[in-house]
Amino acid sequence: YATTHEADIVVIGSGPGGYVAAIKAAQLGLKTISVEKDPSLGGTCLNVGCIPSKALLHNSHLYHMAKHDFKHRGIEVGEVKFDFNAMMTYKANAVKALTGGIAMLFNKNKVQLVRGVGSIVAPNKVQVQGEKGVETINTKNILIATGSEVTPFPGVTFDEQQIITSTGALSLSKVPKKMLVIGAGVIGLELGSVYQRLGADVTAIEFLESIGGVGIDGEVSKTLQKILTKQGMNFKLGTKVTGVKKEGGAIKVDVEAAKGGNKETLDCDVVLISVGRRPYTAGLGLDKVGIALDDRGRVPVNNKFQTTVPGIYAIGDVIHGPMLAHKAEDEGIVCVEGIKGMPVHFNYDAIPSVIYTSPEVGWVGKTEEDLKKEGRAYKVGKFPFLANSRAKTNGEPDGFVKVLADKATDIILGTHIIGPGGGELINEAVLAQEYGAAAEDVARVCHAHPTCAEALREANLAAYIGKPINF
Ligand code: FAD
Ligand code: NAD
Repeated sequence: YATTHEADIVVIGSGPGGYVAAIKAAQLGLKTISVEKDPSLGGTCLNVGCIPSKALLHNSHLYHMAKHDFKHRGIEVGEVKFDFNAMMTYKANAVKALTGGIAMLFNKNKVQLVRGVGSIVAPNKVQVQGEKGVETINTKNILIATGSEVTPFPGVTFDEQQIITSTGALSLSKVPKKMLVIGAGVIGLELGSVYQRLGADVTAIEFLESIGGVGIDGEVSKTLQKILTKQGMNFKLGTKVTGVKKEGGAIKVDVEAAKGGNKETLDCDVVLISVGRRPYTAGLGLDKVGIALDDRGRVPVNNKFQTTVPGIYAIGDVIHGPMLAHKAEDEGIVCVEGIKGMPVHFNYDAIPSVIYTSPEVGWVGKTEEDLKKEGRAYKVGKFPFLANSRAKTNGEPDGFVKVLADKATDIILGTHIIGPGGGELINEAVLAQEYGAAAEDVARVCHAHPTCAEALREANLAAYIGKPINF
């Protein structure tokens, strides 16, 4: 066991940003070392984020369908029950398979893994405090991909059983009877949906007057709220939480109207706090090399992902931009390509966002609110899934596609989908936007019939010429 290593690049953190960057760097011929402090590779996304949440979302959706939807489709299944422990085991197996896959990919691509907490002691030196002691890596480049952590809530200590973050919500031992969710953003809606489908009485408390967090189109947000309310989720909007305390076995949450006045205390057995995440740089030693964080705790970088110290780069949740796995991955790839002297381009206007509720919400580019604020002349093309043959046949008619295009040039500025497979469908809109397509371009592309993607084509047709065919 060597205590000193030599590398061309050390990637600190093995989340979707870091592990993808490490593989790409090795593929480009750089001697690459990945440093990870946690026993399992894959970071937030694979261990306590995207992957486990989607396992629970998918299976709770299937249960909900079997219980409430199968009968009218002519499917008789007898009494429908769920085994919560088995659902959690399924989730754990999904996580294990995917995190184990990263170790295999590291071997295949000759990425060396050094386990432990990495800290930058000099611009060309990383020290790793592992179980076996301290290892030193001399390196030409360092890539910081240390991700993010839950934003704490003033005055609240998480016990991860009754007062929980998303991490606790992914590992509860039983379905709560009454659950309060503080923050109706992405996590609140996704994990709130899981427990609502499994029988919990869920109320989401949101400071703003709308749900879905930052960047969602106002019309989509309103439609989503209507649909989730019909499914049984409750919302208290324009409401702020002033205190959370444990009393006996129950949790009391003090709330008041965001504008002041109207105070009340709500009871629940579990409260999920999902009010955002913040960059994670603890123990990284940035002060030792003179890297100062910005006012939101992020590592400042230029458009080549270079920090203020030559040879030190940063990507993913720890820098600016939306905290999304695919954004972290893509930054990782272009960053290491840049280190090899290749061009570095990153189009922040073409990053998709998806909320994995039922129906799914997906969007890319500008919202109507953005365009109004910019004073930009735009056209709207809208097509409801009610008029899409596949969605109708499948009994999933809720939602619509909305395309926003420049009034003069017809260039697509934004696409907003709420409806069946919205999270998959948005990728076609991203491709169009990345290629600088006009609405007419998408409207003229042959789409398979019958598919939900035809709704995207029709919305583009509506944006381009004002009239769709089937509505
Ligand atoms: P991270 O994934 O946070 O990884 C950072 C890694 O660095 C961690 O493994 C950490 O242990 C390690 N590390 C930190 N400091 C050190 C150090 N000093 N030494 C060694 N190792 C260190 N995004 C999506 O796009 N789609 C989703 O569906 C989605 N769902 C989510 C659901 C939940 C519940 C949560 C919490 C997040 C979700 N996200 C989702 C967000 C997504 O998880 C993050 O955007 C993504 O993980 C960021 O990747 P990253 O590589 O920047 O950092
Ligand atoms: P978020 O920013 O999506 O939502 C937080 C919500 O909490 C906002 O609507 C905000 O107005 C509200 N809020 C803030 N303070 C409040 C208070 N005191 N009282 C009431 N409401 C309050 O954050 P999140 O849901 O915690 O998710 C964190 C990050 O993880 C996000 O940046 C997101 O990008 C990422 N994530 C992504 C996915 C996905 O892509 N499907 C899923 C989960 C998480």
